[in-house]
Parts: sequence; structure tokens; C-alpha cells
Amino acid sequence: MQAVVLRKFGDPEVLRYEEVPTPIPGPGEVLVRVHAVSVNRTLVKKKRQDGGGYGVGLPLVLGVDPSGVVVAVGEGVTQPQRGARVAIIPMVGCGTCPSCQAGNETACRQLRIIGLHRWGGYAEYIVVPARNTFAIPDGLSFADATIITRHFPMAFGEARKAQLQAGEWVLVMGAAGALGS
Ligand SMILES: [Zn+2]
Repeated sequence: MQAVVLRKFGDPEVLRYEEVPTPIPGPGEVLVRVHAVSVNRTLVKKKRQDGGGYGVGLPLVLGVDPSGVVVAVGEGVTQPQRGARVAIIPMVGCGTCPSCQAGNETACRQLRIIGLHRWGGYAEYIVVPARNTFAIPDGLSFADATIITRHFPMAFGEARKAQLQAGEWVLVMGAAGALGS
């Protein structure tokens, strides 16, 4: 497959379009043909420049929020099925610790993030755990699904934390990044 591979940190020219092996989904994983992925200020540009303090290992394929179509499934996967349109949540917990068992993978001490600690969506294909995929409703584009999946949870979480009620207004302090949207 073709992928944009980061082999050293630096300015945009360090990103190289390369031919790399198409990944094969293992048990519990699915192979997704990527249709959309975003460019993030922090999670893409900062990492490309110097790693951003995330413990990034090279070589790396960036892209934290791909969406696309499932084209193959690994052993034991019943959902999603081949042909499904899916968005991908980038947080990959260990799946076995108390936090993961409680459905709170973001608190997992072994949390890995797609596009930071494992290859991301700047490629034709990506392998991800099946549990990280979510069906895209009919009528919603891949691009919209990518942006909603990555940025809506942050804005929604902040609105919930502020105990926003129906009929109230929100002052947006900066029109940039997830908080600003
Ligand atoms: Zn865990």
C-alpha cells in the first residue's frame, strides 16, 4: 500500500510517500481502507516536528482519526463486517485492566494512541482493534465522521462539565482546536 511515512522529525518535507506492506488484521482486529483523515495541530504537526513528548517511535504513519470501509476482519471478529463504513476512535487500551474492563480506556496506564504509538491513517489501509470502530450513519460523509469522532467528544465533554442546560449560551474563547469548535 501507499503511506506517508515519518522516518525523522522536522519540517513537512520529512514526510515521504512510500510503498509499504499492507497490514494484516490479527485476532480482534479489522483492516480498513481509509477514505478520510484530518490534520491536527497538536497530534500531527507537533509530532512531525519533534515528537511532541508523546514517546513516539519511528518510523511512524501519522493520522489519528481515519474513517473508511472495512475490507477484512481478523479471527474472532463478528462486528463490524466487511463493507461496513466506520469511524475510528484512536485510544487503544490494554483491554484487561480495571479501567478498560469498566469501559474507561482513556484511564488505562498502557494506553496507546493510533497515529502516535501505532501506525495511523495517512495510508491506504490501517489495522485497528474492532472495538475501536463505530458505524457511520447513512448520509454522513467520511470527512464529517472523521471530524466528529475526533473533536466532538472534547467539545461535548466540556459542555457537560460546565453543566450546560438547554437554552443557555456558550462563549467560545478561541476559534481553534477542539475546544474552540
Ligand atoms: Zn487497560
